[in-house]
Formats: sequence, C-alpha cells, structure tokens
Amino acid sequence: MKKLLLPILCVGIGTMLQAQTPQRCSSHEYHQHQLAQHPELADTEAEINRAAEHYANNGGKQDRTVVTIPVVFHVVYQTASENISSTRILEQLQVLNDDYRKLNTDRVNVPSAWSGIAADCEIQFCLAKRTPTNTWTDGINRVSTTVSSFDINTDDVKFTSMGGTNVWDRTKYLNIWVCDLGGGILGYAQFPGGPASTDGVVLDYRYTGKTGASPPYNKGRTATHEVGHYLGLYHIWGDDGSSCSGSDQVQDTPNQGAENYNCYNVGQVLTDNCSPAAPGVMWMNYMDYTDDACMYMFTNGQKTRMWNVLNGTRSSILTSNACTPVGLEELNVLNAISVYPSPSNGEVTLDFNGQNASDVDVTVYNTVGQAVLTARYATLTDSRIIIDLSEMAVGVYAIEVRYGGEKVNRKVVIQ
Ligand SMILES: [Zn+2]
Repeated sequence: MKKLLLPILCVGIGTMLQAQTPQRCSSHEYHQHQLAQHPELADTEAEINRAAEHYANNGGKQDRTVVTIPVVFHVVYQTASENISSTRILEQLQVLNDDYRKLNTDRVNVPSAWSGIAADCEIQFCLAKRTPTNTWTDGINRVSTTVSSFDINTDDVKFTSMGGTNVWDRTKYLNIWVCDLGGGILGYAQFPGGPASTDGVVLDYRYTGKTGASPPYNKGRTATHEVGHYLGLYHIWGDDGSSCSGSDQVQDTPNQGAENYNCYNVGQVLTDNCSPAAPGVMWMNYMDYTDDACMYMFTNGQKTRMWNVLNGTRSSILTSNACTPVGLEELNVLNAISVYPSPSNGEVTLDFNGQNASDVDVTVYNTVGQAVLTARYATLTDSRIIIDLSEMAVGVYAIEVRYGGEKVNRKVVIQ
C-alpha cells in the first residue's frame, strides 16, 4: 500500500493542481517550496531543531500552565457550500481542543504499548473576540471571492489582492484559512519561522469540521494534523520516502518508513522495515496519513517539541489579547478601583491601584440621582483621582467612573 500510494506524495508542487485524488497534506512540499524561495529559512529551521533537542534533553516543558491560542478562521468562499456554517467552525474548534488536551473520545483506542506516552499537550484554542484593530469579531472572518479554486503555489488565499484575505497579525492569532483548495489537497501549514504574511494553516472546506464534511476526512483531524505542523511537528515517518534514515526529530515516536493510509483495527500491530517488531509503527498518530477515524494521539515527545516552539519562535501568541472582548481589559482597569476613605469628611480618593488610564470621566450622584459633580481627567497622577465632596450634604453618594467605553460604580459616605 505504501509503495502504491507513494507517487501521489511525490507529485511536484507545480503539477499537483490537476490531481483530484485527495492528498492528505502538502505541508512538506509547501515547506520545500518556501525553502527554495527563502534559503535563509533553512538556518531558522536548524536553529529551531537545535533548540527543540536541547529543550527535550533538559526535561521539556517546565511551566505547567495550559496555554490558549487565539484562532481566526478566514472563510473565503465563492459558493454557498464553500461558506461553511458557524456550526462546522465550532465543531472544528472543539476537535482541536479535544485532541490537544487528550479529551478525544477515541483516545481509549491508543494501544497499551503507547498509552503511557499519549500526551495531553496542554494546548487549547479560542475563537478570537477582537480584530487586529480592536473591533468586535466572533472569530470567523467571511470573505466572498471570485476565485473558484485556490493555489498552494501562489498562496493566493492569504492575500486580499489575489482574491483571498490578508493574514491577521501572526504574533496574536493562529490564522486558519478555509477555502476551495486546488489539487485535491486537504490542507497545508507553514512551519515556524516562515514569512509573516503567509503564516498559518489552510484547510479545504470539504475537510473542515464534521457536519457535511467529506469522508473519510470528516472528523476534523486535518486541522489537528496541520496545526501540528504549525507548531513545529514533522510527519511521523520523517519525510524520507520509505527509508529509515529520516526522522521527525521526536524521540519517543517509532522509526517509520513511509506514511500509512486508510484505517486499521483498534490494537492492530503494523510493522515495516524500520520497526519490524511489535508494537510496530504508530499509524494512529495525528502526524501520519491515516483516515480521520484512525488517528487519535500525540506523544509526549511531540508535545515537548510543540512547547519548545511555543516558548520560542511563537512565544508572542502566549500573551495575545485576541480572545479578550473589546472593552473588557478597560473594565478590568475599572474593577481595580478602590475608593477611600468611607465615611469621608469630603476628600475622596479613587485609587486605580497602579493601573494606567486616561480620559477618565467621573460623575457623582446624590441619593435622588442628581449629578452633583462631573469631571474628566485626561491623565492620572500616581494612578489616583482625588475629588472634593466637602461642600456636599451628609449622605451616601454614588460615584460613576467611565473609561474606554465601560463604567463601574462605587459608593462613598460623606459625614
Ligand atoms: Zn502533514
């Protein structure tokens, strides 16, 4: 089966556009194409691999906090069927979250020989809630196009000028383009270290999400596989044809000659010339080419490699605010405000507790709701505002503070 299917993989990037046989992934070919165009990427890749090895040899991930990666789905469509539903996008997000947290229900099928190294990668994903210009979004960017089929050679889906849509700041978002992808290609990803304008993952709409997706690639695993590449994983067999010399640069995955296709029974041992004895090759790994229903694990070594990328080349995404709704950060500033003293003889401090704010509006209301003081503070001194209520009658006053389109209320007693 491997030898029979090998020629499909070896189709050159310039000639694959006419092929109609579904091709599991073209990230390797895409990567070779990028290396030819940008030879300096080879040094970057070598450095990432050196760092990953060093990281793995020194215990891997030390920080145990689960990371959440903001995602924007760019749905670039010409026809109604290409404009896939939000339900399918949410299904896809759920698959990513299940697979990268080892919450996928088929994890129980992992063979006992490898159950000890099946990884909860401690990576999860959220739909973006703000655009790069800080306006509201649901994380799905729908763009209509006149392009009937997009081309891996030109990366045209990633450029507005070519009928696609431009990348959102890759330091804050994982960009996933969903479109009609030419050549029967299910998807492709850019490895870490590549150009900013093309960074992210491209999925054919037929293989995104579950409902209405095309079998046997209808369980959302194309995205799981491609995001693995985005986070630095190579194919499990090492992309070396069928020899045993290539490596995926991961220590705990078995050596494997070539990719596996189709499906195997749960627990079925599959050996090859590189792993001739049981437990054989890890055909159920997300980075192989088996059907969606037959891939259900990452290893601890793959997790370590991905975390090396997250702590290095892609570290900026760890502090992205892209999943924080517009306004909420400003509200957090307001929530930090404390008001003292209360009761007060008149001089009241609004303490922002070290947080910066500007153009803050303060309104003070008496018990019958009349505004008795209105003021704007362009800047704060020592992160504080001091207001004078000494001329006010004794009683309870409500202090409304507005900042960044949000407001909070505090109370103070004047005696
Ligand atoms: Zn791949």
